[in-house]
Amino acid sequence: MRTAGRMVAEVLQLLSEKIKPGVSTLELDRLAESQCEKFGAKPAFKGYGGFPYSICASPNEKVVHGFPNEEPLQEGDILSIDFGVLKDGFYGDAAVTLPVGNISNGAGSLLKFTRESLMKAIEACQVNSRLGDVSSAVQSYVEPAGYSVVREFVGHGIGSKLHEAPQIPNFGKSGSGPRLKAGMVLAIEPMINAGGPGVTILSDGWTAVTKDGQLSAHFEHTVALTENGPEILTRLD
Ligand code: MG
Repeated sequence: MRTAGRMVAEVLQLLSEKIKPGVSTLELDRLAESQCEKFGAKPAFKGYGGFPYSICASPNEKVVHGFPNEEPLQEGDILSIDFGVLKDGFYGDAAVTLPVGNISNGAGSLLKFTRESLMKAIEACQVNSRLGDVSSAVQSYVEPAGYSVVREFVGHGIGSKLHEAPQIPNFGKSGSGPRLKAGMVLAIEPMINAGGPGVTILSDGWTAVTKDGQLSAHFEHTVALTENGPEILTRLD
């Protein structure tokens, strides 16, 4: 899982270096796919439940599961990219939301709070903690800042399957839920909206967008629980 995680991190790093106004998300999708080939890894999302692409590309008011397309990215957009690989029977899964050129202060703040809420959740991934501590870490960090937590999509266990138990909501009560044990691997993925929490699915059957049209951000890491604390598998050194 460290190998798969590292590949995910390297691909996301590569894509983040390419993002600028004028680039299309379909170009990013092709780049992710060719990099997977070089790694001898399989893109985890392509064909998953019928999803047709290697990356999920969700700009601006799109929350998750957006289809890459030929539309050029515009200065001031934010772009969420979710990406996973299958390597030697194990999965890695991560997401980042990145600025396209210069973005507004409001958009920058949403990215910062969402990224930090993921780090708070990861800090809560301690042996003998409870799952609710992880969920609550996100909610209690972003809501006082005026943001809202998407309810319809959640994080998940990950291993030889992309989505395993338990589900990991980004809202909940600390001290509740199952206890965390060494050896668990969790994909933690806060999806945070600038406006209200409501989302709706577009007619393609996949793309989730905010109901109020306001911005949404998404950060994700695959995290292993060890006796020495959480180990982020999808981060470059
Ligand atoms: Mg995931």
